[in-house]
Amino acid sequence: LPEVKLGIVPGFGGTQRLPRVVGLQAALDLILSGRMLDAKRALRIGLVDGVTYRALLVEEATRVARELADSGRFRATRRSRRPLFSMPGFLDRTPLGRAVVLRAATKRVRAQTRGHYPAPLAAIEAVRVGLRKPNYAREADLLARMALTPESASLVHLFRLTEANKRVGSDLPEPAQVQQVGVVGAGVMGGGIAQLAASKDMRVRLKDIQPDALLLALRTARDIMAKARKRRRISGNEFHNKMALISTTLGYDGFSLADVVVEAVVENLNVKCKVLGELESHVRSNCVIATNTSALSVTRMAESLRDPGRLLGMHFFNPVHRMPLVEIVTTESTRPEALSTVLSLARRLGKTPVVVRDAPGFLVNRILAPFMNESSILFEEGVGVETLDRAMRDSGMPMGPFELIDEIGTDVAEKVGHILHEGLGEHMKPSTLAGRLVQAGRLGKKSGAGMYRYEDGKRKPDGSFWDGLRDGKRTTTSHDAETLRDRVFGLMLNEAARCLDEGVVQSPGELDLALVFGIGFPPFRGGLLRDADVRGLETWVRRLDELAERFGGRFEPCERLRRMAAAGATFYGRTHV
Ligand code: NAD
Repeated sequence: LPEVKLGIVPGFGGTQRLPRVVGLQAALDLILSGRMLDAKRALRIGLVDGVTYRALLVEEATRVARELADSGRFRATRRSRRPLFSMPGFLDRTPLGRAVVLRAATKRVRAQTRGHYPAPLAAIEAVRVGLRKPNYAREADLLARMALTPESASLVHLFRLTEANKRVGSDLPEPAQVQQVGVVGAGVMGGGIAQLAASKDMRVRLKDIQPDALLLALRTARDIMAKARKRRRISGNEFHNKMALISTTLGYDGFSLADVVVEAVVENLNVKCKVLGELESHVRSNCVIATNTSALSVTRMAESLRDPGRLLGMHFFNPVHRMPLVEIVTTESTRPEALSTVLSLARRLGKTPVVVRDAPGFLVNRILAPFMNESSILFEEGVGVETLDRAMRDSGMPMGPFELIDEIGTDVAEKVGHILHEGLGEHMKPSTLAGRLVQAGRLGKKSGAGMYRYEDGKRKPDGSFWDGLRDGKRTTTSHDAETLRDRVFGLMLNEAARCLDEGVVQSPGELDLALVFGIGFPPFRGGLLRDADVRGLETWVRRLDELAERFGGRFEPCERLRRMAAAGATFYGRTHV
């Protein structure tokens, strides 16, 4: 019952019948998450009566049907109901227990959605009213109400974008079959990529210059796969088989077998060019090479190769096994065959690929930069750290800007900030905050302190340090939440419009998809550009002009936004200019 993912509730009796079949708790779990079950799990919760092997399906089904016909019964098995005098039985079967379950579910949904998604609450209501006696009319009524919400429209929009994304690249030449992947650099990212490829049953050759890095990468891969085994996502056999697919080396032996190699060594152009040059002499002539750089020029790297057409960027996000987006970065010389192969590889790895042109910060980091930078400027103006983080989370972002900078690392943020400033100009001028944090040795969560302090992995405020950073300037409360939001999202919108204008990304849809999957831009808004369409571009341009007057030229709406606003156009509409 995946309906809540589209912002609606199950409408053909799902909220009425599922609790009767699998019990209230299991039903709520499925209805509220929209999760799918595999056969084994479906059997375990009592959703299906039996499971058999594909080859035996017809035979087994015939046997069951005969048995049923002979016995005159309707169902193959009798539901074993949970005993009333057990905790699960009490919760599923008594009015008091059910009330407890429903209340807990409501509380959980409220906390998780921060009030942004009405559908899960409506689903709980539909389940509740049908517990004693099915109430299909009420379910239908709730479905109709939900189908008309803006949240549902946004989620359906994203669903369509995801479907359209599956067809990107269908006009390209056939992709090469990837059986063996090479990975150079076994750090956080390289190790993650190796683990992911092995988990999808590809052979992986992992290289580093430090034996310890290889060991750590293997250990991390094993931990991730062990977790999957513990959760019974994979069997014990699969665990061993998948781990055995990763082999390590300090040299380049084995790389001649690779169909694709992903480079993930340190973020330094000279080092990367040198490594790529070496690598090229050890791989087959038709091997595609992808660099996992965050912000360096892929074009410059391509120049260090004898065959620049085989190189592209494959920008994964951290942690690799969790983040659904990969930016695929092409240069002027990237061959269509190479692009096609990497697109197909990204999909096999379970990722959503978005193709972008090689430009500073590519797409996602470029639009993310103002999120963190404007927040830093607001902090320097005196806005509270926690106030800002909360305001951004309340607006639907998964993390506040300072929580995020600590996760990414203040040193990385500083470096990327400078690359963007250099490549894109004055409107991207970084605040001094990241630099000052680096100087203070506060590199973020990894060093125990960034904007916040971390004790046992727990985030702690650091008021006296913040006061020091502001040179004793007092905390101001003069900005309301709307101004905070408009300053941050307005700059992001401006940058997004520039990206479209410069052809960094092909369509508004791909841009929105990249932001939702890459930085967790709130899905209930349907994406940055769609949200702007809903608010109206004319309204936005007026607001940006106002902000420019008060806070500086960086808010000046870009040419494309002005043009579109003047023509009454929208990003998604037919009046697009
Ligand atoms: P890391 O420091 O964890 O790992 C880099 C690894 O490369 C180290 O193990 C190092 O020993 C190895 N190495 C250095 N020179 C080498 C050589 N000549 N041959 C083989 N191995 C070599 O770094 P990371 O965080 O994994 O980043 C790797 C790349 O991924 C960088 O370009 C980075 O910008 C990019 N990236 C990082 C993140 C992130 O969040 N960490 C996200 C996206 C992209």
